[in-house]
Amino acid sequence: MTYPNTQLFIDGKWLDAADGKTLAVFNPATGKEIGRVSHAGKADLDKALAAAQKGFETWRDMTAAARSQIMRKAAGLMRERAEAIGRLITQEQGKPLAEGKGEAMAAADIIEWFAEEGFRVYGRIVPSRFNLATRQMVLKDPVGPVAAFTPWNFPINQVVRKVAAALSAGCSMLVKAPEETPAGPAALIQAFADAGLPPGVLGLVYGNPAEISSYLIPHPIIRKITFTGSTPVGKQLAAMAGQHMKRVTMELGGHAPVIVAEDADIALAVKAAGSAKFRNAGQVCISPTRFLVHESIANEFGAALAKQASSLKVGDGLAEGTQMGPLANPRRLTAMAEFTKDAVERGAELLSGGERIGEAGNFFQPTILANVPTDAKVFNDEPFGPMAAIQKFDTLENAIAEANRLPYGLAGYAFTRSLKNADLLARRVEVGMLWINQPALPSAELPFGGIKDSGYGSEGGPEAVDAYLNARAVSITNV
Ligand code: NAD
Repeated sequence: MTYPNTQLFIDGKWLDAADGKTLAVFNPATGKEIGRVSHAGKADLDKALAAAQKGFETWRDMTAAARSQIMRKAAGLMRERAEAIGRLITQEQGKPLAEGKGEAMAAADIIEWFAEEGFRVYGRIVPSRFNLATRQMVLKDPVGPVAAFTPWNFPINQVVRKVAAALSAGCSMLVKAPEETPAGPAALIQAFADAGLPPGVLGLVYGNPAEISSYLIPHPIIRKITFTGSTPVGKQLAAMAGQHMKRVTMELGGHAPVIVAEDADIALAVKAAGSAKFRNAGQVCISPTRFLVHESIANEFGAALAKQASSLKVGDGLAEGTQMGPLANPRRLTAMAEFTKDAVERGAELLSGGERIGEAGNFFQPTILANVPTDAKVFNDEPFGPMAAIQKFDTLENAIAEANRLPYGLAGYAFTRSLKNADLLARRVEVGMLWINQPALPSAELPFGGIKDSGYGSEGGPEAVDAYLNARAVSITNV
């Protein structure tokens, strides 16, 4: 399938930008331009905002059953089209085809779960303390049109978590999806359009991220902001939302600790954390990054992880057998080289990788660094690439202190055979999601989100729907 140009989706129609402006889209495996994406200006945003208001009024007034039917149909279309959509994602983002297809299939699961959850937007009846003839009700209403900003690492998954939850609550949503990976999000929106979503309920725009966010966030039509991306940008957008008293969900960066205790199943830890590490070339907000390994097993663990890393087949995601694709953009290549150089200069040992592969495309070797000192850049800034940094620890308390040292608090991993250790880790590691003795398995029905500088709000479970609802108290006295 050839890679398409992507237009803006406004009021149920695919349109060029009013001024005809477009941006280039590149394949990270080749560095070549593969298509163009329309670049919205103010006139386009005004149209999209008016449509989002109209779409909200239509969608809000539909029953949960009617909404659910459309959502389930969209989920079915995503499954039917998963192979073709996977190819689009691989071409624009780089991940291996199986991961691209998996992303489209996972989107279907997410939409279906939220389609059901929409039936459970319950209010409450609260007894009156004054009068038996008074019915006190808590009503849950959709907040209104939402502006969503999503990043390039999961072109569809980052959008669908927001869209599915918002739709199940009865909100409309205007999505500013990533200019670098526009066709995946467009395919998702197309599935909803083909499923019969009324015009205006979903809009999709691309352009200059800062210009669009600073126009949409203060706009009176927009009632809620949801953003996934880096912590510095998230803080800027949350501050702007605060100035305009808008509801906010922020899913920001992380720096996931992996604590491998003295009594861990080492083979399991290497397999689970190692495969999670190199999924999507490590460009995942929950990617394991700081490996804290008990000193008695650190050398064995490091050697096994390096062996696994260096056996990975790196290449074009469309090629048969590729296990890890290129990095999504040249910025990440520069970052990987800097992290490696800095760590080695500070005394870390390079167990494998550390170099760019070839001259064309953004390929970087899966990289394992051992004995990484705490002041190394890679132990402080989110690597967001195929890089594992290992440090030894002596006591579990010290490992937990290191895990909690950074302001991030998104994902964490631990490996131990002891219930006592597992219980301590569950209580003390400051993260929004902790996986013990298993790989990361986020699913629609579980909360997904961080604490501390990793943001607030959740993109999974009933909590994700709540984020798009207002709770109002209405009391009626029978006279
Ligand atoms: P970046 O901080 O420039 O951008 C991150 C995302 O935010 C992009 O999608 C970008 O389009 C968007 N963005 C930037 N400024 C914006 C603004 N003013 N208004 C609205 N959106 C805006 O970083 P980058 O180079 O694209 O990515 C690198 C870093 O971003 C990574 O190190 C990682 O920390 C973070 N990131 C996190 C996730 C995640 O899943 N949480 C995803 C992608 C990137």
